[in-house]
Amino acid sequence: MAEVLGLIVSDAVLTVDGRVVRPTGFRLRSHAGDREIDPIVAEPASAGALQGQVSALTRITVPQVDGELRPAARWRSADGTEGDWAVPPAPRPADFAFGYPIPPAPEMADGPAGLYAAVLGVLLDAVELVDGTALLPVDGVRVGERQVPLPAVDPETHPVLGPRLELPGGRLQPLHTVAATEPTIVALARHWSIVAEQLVVTPEALRLPMADKPLSGRLTGFVLHDLAEWQVDAECHPSEIYEYLARVCNVACQFCYLFGNPDDLAVARGKKVIAGDEMDTRLRYFDPEGHRTLFKSQWEINEFLVDPKLPHVLRSLRAVSDREFYFITNGSPLLPRVIDLLDEVRPVTLVISTNTIDAPLRQQVMNERRGQTETALTCLEQLSDRRIPFGLSFVATPEFPVERLAEALDKIEPLRPAMVRVNLPGFTRSHPYQLPFDMAEAWERSTRDIAALRKRYRTPIVIIPSAFEANTLFEDPHEPRIAGTVPGSPAAAAGFQPGDVVERIGIFTISSRAQIQSLVMTLRRPSRIVVRRGGERRTLTLDPDGPVEYPYTGHLIGKYVVPYGLVVAPSLSLGDAKAIEAAVTATGAQRPWLLTSPLMEMQARTFIERWLPERAKSLHYTVVTNEYLGGNIQVLDMATVGDLHRAIRRDIDHTGSRPDLVLLPGTGFNQEGRDIAGRHWGDLERALRVPVRLLDVTTQFLF
Ligand code: SF4
Repeated sequence: MAEVLGLIVSDAVLTVDGRVVRPTGFRLRSHAGDREIDPIVAEPASAGALQGQVSALTRITVPQVDGELRPAARWRSADGTEGDWAVPPAPRPADFAFGYPIPPAPEMADGPAGLYAAVLGVLLDAVELVDGTALLPVDGVRVGERQVPLPAVDPETHPVLGPRLELPGGRLQPLHTVAATEPTIVALARHWSIVAEQLVVTPEALRLPMADKPLSGRLTGFVLHDLAEWQVDAECHPSEIYEYLARVCNVACQFCYLFGNPDDLAVARGKKVIAGDEMDTRLRYFDPEGHRTLFKSQWEINEFLVDPKLPHVLRSLRAVSDREFYFITNGSPLLPRVIDLLDEVRPVTLVISTNTIDAPLRQQVMNERRGQTETALTCLEQLSDRRIPFGLSFVATPEFPVERLAEALDKIEPLRPAMVRVNLPGFTRSHPYQLPFDMAEAWERSTRDIAALRKRYRTPIVIIPSAFEANTLFEDPHEPRIAGTVPGSPAAAAGFQPGDVVERIGIFTISSRAQIQSLVMTLRRPSRIVVRRGGERRTLTLDPDGPVEYPYTGHLIGKYVVPYGLVVAPSLSLGDAKAIEAAVTATGAQRPWLLTSPLMEMQARTFIERWLPERAKSLHYTVVTNEYLGGNIQVLDMATVGDLHRAIRRDIDHTGSRPDLVLLPGTGFNQEGRDIAGRHWGDLERALRVPVRLLDVTTQFLF
């Protein structure tokens, strides 16, 4: 990247609104714009604009021509220029070769200015240019007298990356695997596409006289040259490696969340399990002590426990990490030998998608063989015998009515599940499952029925998304009401009951669920907690050091936070309000607009009115609908930058006003600041030319 930018600034002049600017450095775009800045140093004149680009690209990648890797070749361009490349041998031949296709080239203007404008257009998706520390929104390139604008940023369309499905032959991976997680590889591919459009490899360099079809000499893909250069900082939880085991599933549920997704989602679809050498390479670069690992590829998460490499991978990870393994499984792979393995590599927690204990019904809806269903329904007893903690997952589709859920809980509760989660069904517009029911009505009815079940069971039941329950059943969407307690936990011993509304914790008055979550987590000695139960007020004592038993293991059940076993859905917090106030004050904005979703709008409005009553008068709410996914998806975490842009445009048209600050909750963006289609949130600012501030609001609305 540094070399290419150095070549461009030495050959061309960059402009902002026609004004010449000189970037001194660049940094990779990230979630919060906090990456280090690297200097841009002008490169000595190269043997030509195109040769300069080819040399820079072949320093870090090995090109593929007509489907074959070509470490060395000569090339010729339409304007008669010629050049070559020669990549040294792979420094670590045992490594898996991560290869990617070259996508279609973008449109570009002629000459070096056109070439540089096109290259900068793709690089600026991955990096930001700076002068000192100030961002430079470069929008044009000049070479001699010729000025070419950079391609305009359009958040509502996505670059064409080729197929999302695993590519035939298996050696090139879809660019969708890295679109949201390692966008520099996409920038490389698109950079190659611009270069590939300009040249063909000369026939003498191909040296394939026996080839049975004429070779075009066209570049078709590339392979990363030295994987050591692609290690990144990481938390190094073992899940970062074992998630690659979940590339395929052994059943096909009618309601599977992976069906009906758009073709440009930044998550690839696998056809088969990960190759052994790819997994071994990832394991080799996984370094929990140094907090480094190989760049992340993103594949659809299916079933973790069916890959035959499971024993090797789990044992290898346990040798380097003592952190908990957490798997969501449909239960059918949990044969005795797999349970033996999980016992061996504990700590392990499972969430099992049981859905129903009616075997024929489960078989039909999950497209399962009889033996698979038997395993899924009998494994729970064995897990309980081995004291391997597990939660249960159900989905509230019409096939699985609440009476069936109660039937299942009657039977399973003696096995001591840690929790039960019930997912309200969510479908994108293209989901193949036909919806013979009114979704809004079904959500409301299911929520009431499931919430009513809590009184009958000691297993905590959470409804996902929890915000829907809070909007529908609570007087106040922030109401500090608890959903239940994990059996065997300090919270269960304290005597909390589902529906208790917490009023005080120690000396603190409580008015939101977020306060419960954060305060209970900090308790270090027996503490008095006042709750309202029905019309009465009771004082309970939570002893953090009290005796605990299976299935309680601590503050977490996999990804769910349950402080001392207290199960409370998240809510927005006072800290979130302070972050909004700080952002508005720092920018001096007069017309701040806050983005929210249909599901969270009520919570957002009430929390601003409660904690920022003055700000409530000037704040405009833009409610974003999930048009990219469609169907009944209604959460900001799954909205794309295109959805956000559309919603703001619509409000500008509707109100006749423009924001001078956009406040954007950051939970829908990954570590790289990318949405589910791989688009960086900063493109909203680039397209609207309005300051956008990413809010680190309460994360993990996991239930
Ligand atoms: S078990 Fe999960 S991944 Fe597999 S088909 Fe069912 S919902 Fe999809």
